[in-house]
Amino acid sequence: MRILVMGAGVVGVTTAWQLAKDGHEVVVVERHAEAADDTSFGNAGAIAPGHAYAWSSPKAPMTLLRSLWRDDQALRFRFSLDPKLWSWSLAFLRECSAERYRRNTQTKHRLCTYSKAVLGEVVDETGIEYDRVRGGILYVYRDRSSFEQRIREMQILTSLGEDLRELDPEQVVATEPALAAARHRIAGAIHAAGDETGDCRKFTQALAARCVERGVVFHYETTVQRLEVTGDRVECVRTDRGEMRADAHVVALGYESPRLCGPLGIRLPIYPVKGYSVTLPIGERHAPPALNGIDENNLCAFTRMGERLRVTATAEFAGYDKSYRASDFTHMLGAIRDLLPEAADYSSPEYWAGLRPMTPDNCPFIGRGIHHNLYLNTGHGHIGWTMSNGSARIVADLIAGRAPAIDMSGLGMR
Ligand SMILES: Cc1cc2nc3c(=O)[nH]c(=O)nc-3n(C[C@H](O)[C@H](O)[C@H](O)COP(=O)(O)OP(=O)(O)OC[C@H]3O[C@@H](n4cnc5c(N)ncnc54)[C@H](O)[C@@H]3O)c2cc1C
Repeated sequence: MRILVMGAGVVGVTTAWQLAKDGHEVVVVERHAEAADDTSFGNAGAIAPGHAYAWSSPKAPMTLLRSLWRDDQALRFRFSLDPKLWSWSLAFLRECSAERYRRNTQTKHRLCTYSKAVLGEVVDETGIEYDRVRGGILYVYRDRSSFEQRIREMQILTSLGEDLRELDPEQVVATEPALAAARHRIAGAIHAAGDETGDCRKFTQALAARCVERGVVFHYETTVQRLEVTGDRVECVRTDRGEMRADAHVVALGYESPRLCGPLGIRLPIYPVKGYSVTLPIGERHAPPALNGIDENNLCAFTRMGERLRVTATAEFAGYDKSYRASDFTHMLGAIRDLLPEAADYSSPEYWAGLRPMTPDNCPFIGRGIHHNLYLNTGHGHIGWTMSNGSARIVADLIAGRAPAIDMSGLGMR
């Protein structure tokens, strides 16, 4: 079959890889000049089934409300006239009951766990190097009450077999000596032993190169303008470089997916949620952490990627604006410097901001919509690097007429 994949982020490229492995003729269309140049460019790199908690939780409405009048650096929500933001927010609030939080977390965990296993297979098959760090991720708490709350909640994931261990401050420092200077500021940590990290962009670009070796054709600097349909069939894809035809099509356009799918009658509740990341060089005199982690009270991640330390934070509702100022990074850099003062050269930051394709229930849309030759693989939100390889395998299975390896409830069209 000839299959057209739209989007060359981590989701599009992993999809192209799985389809090529199945023997299809695959073409990828991407508006940027290379793969992983949008949201997949600068993320925190966590492969984190041990942190699959849904953002739509019983405590989220109060956190959102507080951010309206507090200058919160972790969550920035402001009044806006954008009707898409309002309908998305209402749908998000509906997902915040204890029951839906539990169900959405379980659904995300199922996909994350499967996806991590598929990532392992892809790495074994290709030998791709992407600054992988294994041995778990440390989720660090600065105050006792939020630490205890998370210990109560983590039963959702431990009951699904996730290896999560609570560490007291001494055990935290014994596990990660780079945190010794901040010992008195740490109330405890959860060590998610199965989680790992790696550079999503490096992985995606290397996998795109392997795809080319397998015959996949990438059309870069080509923008999809619209899909033309007759009845329940996509006839062709119009781009700024002409029309393209295929037997099947996959939408992997991240936060842009609703713009292309809306005119076809497919309403995708995906809203862009902005995040910031800053990458710092690690020199010989620095003492970076061996394990990566998250400062849970400031919602800042720190990730060693080879000779770089990446710090990421913030969920901001700012529409499609990806701009940033140095001051956007002051709080997050301060928080991580406080925990890891010697980890990297804090005077040479490389700034970046990207848009998470968030759905209200935090679960992606994977599978066929209302057209029989159009598949969706989009809406992976804050954890799309973790979910990408499994989502890609599922789409390839569906196109081949095979049953996916995991239960798809909560992951298809809804
Ligand atoms: C600050 C931050 C930290 C994060 N940390 C993590 C983490 O630690 N772990 C994790 O699992 N996830 C993380 N994420 C989430 C993760 O980065 C995303 O879920 C993932 O990158 C989404 O991949 P994607 O391929 O769907 O989207 P994208 O990477 O955005 O890819 C979509 C592609 O479609 C292209 N495109 C769009 N419209 C068109 C068009 N009309 N024509 C042609 N091409 C088009 C875009 O240019 C883009 O390349 C983080 C995100 C942010 C912002």
